[in-house]
Amino acid sequence: MLIELTDICKDYMQGKETVPILKHINLQVDQGEYVAIMGPSGSGKTTLMNLMGCLDTPTSGTYLLNGENVATAGENRLTEIRNSLIGFVFQSFYLLPKLTAKENVALPLLYAGVPKKDRLERAEELLEGLGLGERMDFLPNQLSGGQQQRVAIARAMAGRPKVLFADEPTGALDTASGEQIMELFSSIHKGGATIVMITHEQSIADHAEKIYYIRDGELSEAPPVAEKARKASEETRSNAAAPRRQGDYVSEGERPDKS
Ligand code: ADP
Ligand code: MG
Repeated sequence: MLIELTDICKDYMQGKETVPILKHINLQVDQGEYVAIMGPSGSGKTTLMNLMGCLDTPTSGTYLLNGENVATAGENRLTEIRNSLIGFVFQSFYLLPKLTAKENVALPLLYAGVPKKDRLERAEELLEGLGLGERMDFLPNQLSGGQQQRVAIARAMAGRPKVLFADEPTGALDTASGEQIMELFSSIHKGGATIVMITHEQSIADHAEKIYYIRDGELSEAPPVAEKARKASEETRSNAAAPRRQGDYVSEGERPDKS
């Protein structure tokens, strides 16, 4: 198992009050899996991604990443882990405006100590693979949003990470560019990558192999509507008839996957 979170909690202090943000989260992601984590704004998605991406540590619980408990790792070790195992893609692309596409992609390899010639070769190869061969020497502001996000994806992959974390990667894009980015993730996944994608949109989450749902800091494999319907049905089932399948309680019209 590449990723294994067990009973993870994250609290924030608000004044003197402790506010639980992530509540007893259990999640496993295998090498090569493509999972989406879906939830409304404020449900804890980014907090969870920051933990999984070793940008932050939990209040309690264990997080095994590639066999190592990183929940208690120090700042230096977290940085090493991020540099060697993890690639990030964010909603706002965070490209450096004065560097070309190629230089942006090559940048993480500079920090990894890769010689310049090899860095630039790797960046060229990645950008060509992502359909940006003609635009390698453009500055970010000479590229469309979708193209900038592709550069950011190439940068995330530069160090051959074991896992890609994407937080609302299509959030700043129009529908067509968003779809292209999703196709790109699918092909990266087919190439063997492990991907954890965070989104609030069902149509985006549907590109993953498996979808988890987060609500008020609680993670579940059941879509929220089906879950609500299951609870309601339990309450009214005192006159228990024949057992029904969970899906029976959700009418077509209220299925969240119908967009
Ligand atoms: P999402 O990404 O799903 O919109 P977040 O993980 O960003 O949600 O936030 C979840 C909750 O945690 C929100 O209520 C937010 O206000 C709170 N929160 C996030 N970061 C902090 C922080 N650094 N300090 C206090 N509260 C925070
Ligand atoms: Mg967020």
